[in-house]
Amino acid sequence: MQSPPGYPPDIQPVWTPWVTFHVIQVQREEALYLIDTGMAGGISALRRTLRQRHWDHLPIRGIVLTHGHYDHTRNVAELVRETGAWVAAPRLDKLHCEGRHPYHSWSQICGWLEAGGRRLLGFHSFPVDFWIDEGDTIPIGSGWTAVHLPGHTGGHMGYHHTRRKLLFSGDLFASFGAFSHLPPRILNSDPERLRHSLNLTASLDLEGALPNHGWPASPSHHLKQLHQLARRYVI
Ligand SMILES: [Zn+2]
Repeated sequence: MQSPPGYPPDIQPVWTPWVTFHVIQVQREEALYLIDTGMAGGISALRRTLRQRHWDHLPIRGIVLTHGHYDHTRNVAELVRETGAWVAAPRLDKLHCEGRHPYHSWSQICGWLEAGGRRLLGFHSFPVDFWIDEGDTIPIGSGWTAVHLPGHTGGHMGYHHTRRKLLFSGDLFASFGAFSHLPPRILNSDPERLRHSLNLTASLDLEGALPNHGWPASPSHHLKQLHQLARRYVI
């Protein structure tokens, strides 16, 4: 299988019905890295995707999280056990990663959903080897830096490559064509800052966005949805 239309050859989305996550191949290291890990069904989808790309012989060396929600972290522990990969996560999402974030207001519903998910689908805590702060270079190939995009969670990070003009945008928005939307109120633990983050991404020089929720589409298509949302919500 070739890379999906519009994707650079070293970046492969793993699409599952609920959430998408991404694999980056670093050719000179002959290694793979993950941005997030999905939830139930994510590991089998990952194996299938790696087989199709003929990447299944390459080691997974590291896992970088955009934020600490259950649907992004559920498979971290199992993947670390299987592969020995290191884990990097936003420092400000430490409590989310540990499953003990004190949700307030509307986002308490998110806390209940996560607690139900953990009970039904399982969850194992995982070690975090590196905590990520705004502006950090993440140790994947070269050129990816952390951009703090709070709102959905307090520590929510995007990962931006200036030269390649790409942004792993986490859950800043969901890309479903005409139904694209910001994350719903009940899922945002720091909603007042969402607008600031949209504003900030609108100011970046980008050619593609790689969101974790959306229809299978090219990064440039996703970016168009993000720009439309930014125009609608940012004054
Ligand atoms: Zn989320």
